[in-house]
Amino acid sequence: VIVILRMGAPRADADRVLQVLKERGVQTAVFFGEERTVITLLGAVADAELLQSLETLPGVDRVAAMQDPYRLASREAQASGSVVRVGTAEVGGSGFAVIAGPCIVRGREDLLELAAAVKARGASILRGDAYRAGDSPFAVQGLGPRGLAVLEEARRATGLPIATEVQESGQVETVSTIVDLVEVGPDNMKTLALLRAVGASGKPVILKRGLSATIEEWLKAAEHVMRAGNPNVILCERGIRTFEADRQSVLDVSSVPVVKRLSHLPVIVDPSHGTGHGYLVQPMALAAAAVGADGLLVEVHSGGDGELADGPQSLSLAEFERLMGALHGILGAVGRTLARACPPDGGVSTA
Ligand code: MN
Repeated sequence: VIVILRMGAPRADADRVLQVLKERGVQTAVFFGEERTVITLLGAVADAELLQSLETLPGVDRVAAMQDPYRLASREAQASGSVVRVGTAEVGGSGFAVIAGPCIVRGREDLLELAAAVKARGASILRGDAYRAGDSPFAVQGLGPRGLAVLEEARRATGLPIATEVQESGQVETVSTIVDLVEVGPDNMKTLALLRAVGASGKPVILKRGLSATIEEWLKAAEHVMRAGNPNVILCERGIRTFEADRQSVLDVSSVPVVKRLSHLPVIVDPSHGTGHGYLVQPMALAAAAVGADGLLVEVHSGGDGELADGPQSLSLAEFERLMGALHGILGAVGRTLARACPPDGGVSTA
């Protein structure tokens, strides 16, 4: 059961409903949406008299039964699409956000150069992993705190908000005080301790779809983050495992309109890991823009070592530039424009 408040109902009205439910021993989860507040009653509430009385409280629009296991993320909770503020940038709304950078932060010069280059080509957020454990323990590992410091320096130099992946709940506190956006990888999509830690941090988060996760499981994972108090969830489609032997994952572009129908959360697409092949990145990035994605997460390398360490899906700067050029045409056709990082005086903290 959910209690939907009227548009613009004051906070006091929500508090009143919460107080009544608390007195009756009903546990709740609250979503303070951009349009309206939605209170979810947890567990089975069979008290019809209580439910009726809720409808008479000030500010309450309606009390509705809800079958979906995802509630806070549901279109029923909020009809219009959410816009997540990421430092001075935004994901969602009419802008199309391109988040770009290397797989792993390797060194200062390398990242500073790449950050300036992706910004000049239209990226609005810089990404790079600091805490990275490769698939194999012998693969390239992240630089840890030094990698975060390099990301910070790149933010200072370019003004781009920064994103990095968290692997364990113990990293969330440190990482979230530094970066503007945290990423939860596909292998961790169902790691509850990590989802709760990211939820408690309140930091904008990219939640990547697990390789064998259904859309419902993915949305339920988002619920855990939102339930822990963080509405700033961006979903990221990055491929699912199929019987295709030559591809580590097959990008499910159809998940974008499916999720858009079910949820108000922004959805972006990672055509790099979603395909695993450089030549597939641009066509799938354009497909993502065409089907209504809110942005891309793209791996770009600076040449040299990066090319080897980041894998065959990573684009060179020249390839990234071509992709950005081609993107304009698609965005124009679907009535969107490339999102830009706003000036830092937009009133949003970057820490
Ligand atoms: Mn990577």
